[in-house]
Amino acid sequence: MLIADYFRRRGLSGKVKIHLFTPEPQPMPVAGPQLGAAVRAMHESRGIEFHPLHKLAAVEPGVRELTFDNGQRFNYDLLVAVPPHRAPKAVVEAGLTNQTGWVPVDAHTLATNQNAAYAIGDVTAIPIPGRWKPDVPLMLPKAGVFAHAQAEVVAQRIVAEITGRPCQAMFCGDGYCMLEAGEDLAGFAFGNFFAEPAPNVQLRQIGKAWHVGKVLFEKWWLAPAGVRRSLIGWAVRTVGRLYGIPITL
Ligand SMILES: Cc1cc2nc3c(=O)[nH]c(=O)nc-3n(C[C@H](O)[C@H](O)[C@H](O)COP(=O)(O)OP(=O)(O)OC[C@H]3O[C@@H](n4cnc5c(N)ncnc54)[C@H](O)[C@@H]3O)c2cc1C
Repeated sequence: MLIADYFRRRGLSGKVKIHLFTPEPQPMPVAGPQLGAAVRAMHESRGIEFHPLHKLAAVEPGVRELTFDNGQRFNYDLLVAVPPHRAPKAVVEAGLTNQTGWVPVDAHTLATNQNAAYAIGDVTAIPIPGRWKPDVPLMLPKAGVFAHAQAEVVAQRIVAEITGRPCQAMFCGDGYCMLEAGEDLAGFAFGNFFAEPAPNVQLRQIGKAWHVGKVLFEKWWLAPAGVRRSLIGWAVRTVGRLYGIPITL
């Protein structure tokens, strides 16, 4: 959507076609069919053609051709692709990963099955209790917001281990995400991914406030410790409370 906005601002919308391919059946599948349909509609309303269930098998840069594992081919002028995602070699060689290729951890403490080792963020594999279809188990999505919350929990647990104090810190599966839509607008999805019988994730109507929230969040994240960071953090938390959104920084 940001790319579509870039071309729109340059007056090139009618001359450019944007296609989005994903191996997933819908955007944000863990958040459920309703939310996925809403995010897909956001893309399509900006003229972006959405192609679910397309797993990229090969890129032929010489002839600018993509091949998908369903055999379909597609030509492009400019490709923006997320490369294959896998655990670092050092983590695999340390024997921390399982058959998924990622590190299994306790969903709440982030402890691995090796003594005194924790894992957080994208390298982990965390099955979640809720499901949308009885026969389709779900994993916690890989997102920076989870890596961030997990880091806070693990930091507290390590401090407690060193100081010999008890520790109640637990990762509870809450997460949120601003969906930048271009034109200084964004949507906002948030909820609890450990909820049962299915993850409880809501999407708030697209608007300027979420875009401003994203800008502030980035400023907070990138600001060095100090008064400025505290003030931005206070502003984000206060606005979050006004909108009834549990934002932890
Ligand atoms: C296009 C895109 C958009 C995204 N948008 C969002 C979003 O809007 N919101 C959101 O919450 N998340 C988003 N994410 C996901 C988010 O970026 C990741 O979930 C997050 O960065 C994971 O953090 P991490 O610290 O676990 O891993 P990383 O950020 O991958 O950090 C791992 C680090 O380890 C380093 N490393 C690897 N191997 C070694 C080694 N052997 N020795 C030393 N260092 C090593 C790597 O260089 C890297 O710096 C997005 C991801 C992509 C690709």
